[in-house]
Amino acid sequence: MPKQLNGLRLAAVLVCALALAVSLAACAQQGQAPSSASAAAESSASVQAEASTSAQAEAVSSSQAEASSGAEAQAALYGSPWVASVFTGNLPEAAPEAADDLYLHYNYDFAASHQEDPYASPRYETQGELQAAVTKTIKDTSIESAELEQLRIFYNQAADIEAREAAGAEELKPYLKAVSETQSLSELEELLLSESFPFSPWIDTTVSAIDMKSNMSVAIMPHMLFTNEESDPIIYQDAPDETTQAAYDVMKSQPMNFVAGDLMLVSLAEDVEQGLEMATRMFELEKQYGKEDNPSQYLHAEYGAQAEAVKALSLDELEAACPNYPLRETLAKLGEGKTDSVIVMYPAWLSSFNSVWTEENFELLRAMTEVKVLRECADFIAPSFYTATRARMGTEDLDADESAYAACDRKETFTQLLAKTYVEQHLGDQVSSNLDKLTNELIDSYIELIGETSWLNEQSRENVIDKIDNMALNVLHPDGGYYDYSELRLTPSEEGGTLLGNYLALKAYNDAQEAKLVGQPARASATWLYARPTTQNCYYDAISNSMNIFPGYITSASYSESMSTEELLAGIGFTIGHEISHAFDYTGSQFNAFGEPTAVFTEEDAQAFVEKREALASYYASFEIMPGSHVDGTLKSAEATADLCGMQVILERARAIEGFDYEKLYGSFANSWAVVYAPAYMDILNIDAHPLNHQRVNVNSQMFEEFYATYGVREGNTMYLAPENRLALWGENSN
Ligand SMILES: [Zn+2]
Repeated sequence: MPKQLNGLRLAAVLVCALALAVSLAACAQQGQAPSSASAAAESSASVQAEASTSAQAEAVSSSQAEASSGAEAQAALYGSPWVASVFTGNLPEAAPEAADDLYLHYNYDFAASHQEDPYASPRYETQGELQAAVTKTIKDTSIESAELEQLRIFYNQAADIEAREAAGAEELKPYLKAVSETQSLSELEELLLSESFPFSPWIDTTVSAIDMKSNMSVAIMPHMLFTNEESDPIIYQDAPDETTQAAYDVMKSQPMNFVAGDLMLVSLAEDVEQGLEMATRMFELEKQYGKEDNPSQYLHAEYGAQAEAVKALSLDELEAACPNYPLRETLAKLGEGKTDSVIVMYPAWLSSFNSVWTEENFELLRAMTEVKVLRECADFIAPSFYTATRARMGTEDLDADESAYAACDRKETFTQLLAKTYVEQHLGDQVSSNLDKLTNELIDSYIELIGETSWLNEQSRENVIDKIDNMALNVLHPDGGYYDYSELRLTPSEEGGTLLGNYLALKAYNDAQEAKLVGQPARASATWLYARPTTQNCYYDAISNSMNIFPGYITSASYSESMSTEELLAGIGFTIGHEISHAFDYTGSQFNAFGEPTAVFTEEDAQAFVEKREALASYYASFEIMPGSHVDGTLKSAEATADLCGMQVILERARAIEGFDYEKLYGSFANSWAVVYAPAYMDILNIDAHPLNHQRVNVNSQMFEEFYATYGVREGNTMYLAPENRLALWGENSN
């Protein structure tokens, strides 16, 4: 759901590349709105948003209906069983009845008023709330704390555009020069390992645990040039058809353009054309190991195969898996060489990476090293360096506050403190405790549903309940808490401190905080160390068996004191229910309560679950988005099953509430998914793991009796499904 990680993952989106989010049920919500992320951190979310303007988008734009006017336009509307009203130019003349199209019944006015304004949604509109609230706190110096003092030093240096322009990139240049002067792979390796070179451009590390009964150890992953933890590695895959390839190309175009810009900045390319040509060669090289690093391959893999996705290797085994690259020495340099074992997700990339780290590729690897260092530091040098690149992408320069916020909202800098500040100073204890209460009520409703589910045998039922009982509920607060920055000492400008110098100091501080966790008991919020909890996102992680609601997700669109119980259940309640259910989806159910690769379903029940998932996938596959274009039901199945469970659990909870107003629930539910896209975006959405919003609203509503009773839906209505065709995963109606 709302996983906006998406980008990255489209597949969860996630996400989920939430690095270690193995499990990752990324629930990013489809199609993020354009973000103000910095050049260095362009997420694919913004890549997608750019699709509406870029030339490439035109190329992918399918033959959308050329809606003219009147009856002709009406006849040209596409989508079945429901008009694909999430796209502009495809709106009937009047709002349908709820019994025929619940989504459009409630969102007609929103859609009609945003026909000229695609990429709009009430949720996207609140995306800047955390940033605005935190910026206000930073500027309000009457709010004092040792941590805020450090944040203010850094923020003010980043907001001082004049000083940054005057400094240019002089402080960074010696590092880039050192890279460009290497003449062989061994010289490059020597530089990468030297203490005076404060970057690790090829390998990212974080701390994680192989399961929740273990201690924390170091986790490694390749540092990618064309994706980041929030954008989708799907772009490295070989597309099954031309339409999908065109969608991948759109997602790829933005990082490609930034890399071309970087190459011009470091004088490795003379113009854009040459830069793009070189970027393409870099992409091809990265693709060789990038496509191994992708959770989507497990979508079709045999049940149980997910156990192979995460490995704990000894340092000797790690070295043997990738002998060409000095991994052991890299860990030692990062202060993380004392780990007993190293966790590797999707370990196939190790041998592929090994095969590209060769003298033969030296010049390309050296150029990529320069670009990676430059991009890492892009938020800390003169903003004007990226003006030309941004202009080419149709993106405006950031103003001083946006630029300062972007510098602070990085995992290497202050993203954790921004999230913590938002929770403490803006949301307050009451919101946290209300959301905790709601989460626990939904957990109880799940347990009731599981108890009524007769297709589960005793063993599976016990495992499922055990998993729910042991689930970490990281709602606004990571278990183990946020990092403590009170010991950090940045150097203010008056004392000669610089933005880049302070960035490097902060990065070292964060690395030291992580290193301290190695050897400590497993922590269910380990993935928060790799992600930015400031993003409008939520996810479930199977290794830590944790349900995570990031502070960035809680905006006025998802929570306010004035919301009724119905509105809360329809919005954040549905999201929480959706995330919890990822513990039992095709991927999540392959791990037990402690993240060990032991399936929660017995073999027989796993088969029953797969049949249910397939029935839902087939139902989605019967939908036409436009004539001849069907939904990929299998791709959508994990998110579709999570949606179905999310709806089922909020209805289960509603049953326990006297005088519950179902009309209010359905109206809020439909409204929470209101969105308008340009049709050019359709191909991108088709490769996203989440169903289209109007389908999410309508399918999940029509599966349960409450909807029929509320709106008097009967045979002949488009929303009608015969009782024997209604699908449910849990409860007494699930057989
Ligand atoms: Zn999801």
